[in-house]
Amino acid sequence: MTTSATPAALMRTSPLPPLEARILLTHVLGWRPTQLITRSDEPLQAEVVERYRALEARRAAGEPVAQLVGAREFFGLNFEVTPHVLIPRPETELLVETALAALENLARPRVLDLGTGTGAIAVAIASMRPDAQVWALDRSAEALAVATRNAARLLDAKRPGGAVVLTQSDWYGSLDAALRFHVIVSNPPYIASGDPHLAQGDLRFEPRGALTDEADGLSAIRAIIAGAPTRLAAGGVVWIEHGYDQAEAVRELLTAQGFMQVRSERDLAGIERISGGRLGG
Ligand code: GLN
Repeated sequence: MTTSATPAALMRTSPLPPLEARILLTHVLGWRPTQLITRSDEPLQAEVVERYRALEARRAAGEPVAQLVGAREFFGLNFEVTPHVLIPRPETELLVETALAALENLARPRVLDLGTGTGAIAVAIASMRPDAQVWALDRSAEALAVATRNAARLLDAKRPGGAVVLTQSDWYGSLDAALRFHVIVSNPPYIASGDPHLAQGDLRFEPRGALTDEADGLSAIRAIIAGAPTRLAAGGVVWIEHGYDQAEAVRELLTAQGFMQVRSERDLAGIERISGGRLGG
């Protein structure tokens, strides 16, 4: 049944920010963003209007847009998102760019992504470096299922580096101990257990285990740094994303573990967002 409601009218009367209303509406309609302009005055089916209103209400009640549409773009790739994984953040693209720079002069490099979630970091690296062999671990079976689907859908099945190897593992726990990597990357849970941000915004709907270590915010980072030297090839590097106020602490952990060339990189907001170092030898 056709109604008098049009895309333009739904947008005009939405309580949501225009960008969010647009994303939900194109999702329900199955349209491209430009069609929202070219077909803005088309009367819509009642069923479509109902589905849009339902999503709009859930968004107004706080559910993340990425979970409502089941997807979020990261590094130019469209990743499936479920409530079992952290939603990829734009600032994490810095981690991918830095890892890619570290791989520049290596042929067929081996890369490890710890706590892969959606698989965004591992898949973005694998997509930019078809020759790289990429391992991605997560302790959550639900997350691994999402990452597996993303890797299968977004990567060329015939890439020279082969498929991303996805393994259920608590940090390095279940990883083949003989493997040596040129680059280890991770965006681990780094929010301290009592941080009020956990009770705000999208974070309320994301898996708590992807956000907080239920401790001081540094325990996952400590485990990753402690295990890195024995997993890295000579001259290999580790890069870790962390909170806005953790750069100095992470640099100290890296230095204490014997890493060289320890430094942090700033994200687009000017915040020291990732820190890393190189293994000597
Ligand atoms: N960057 C996320 C946030 O604060 C936290 C992600 C994480 O803990 N790795 O919104």
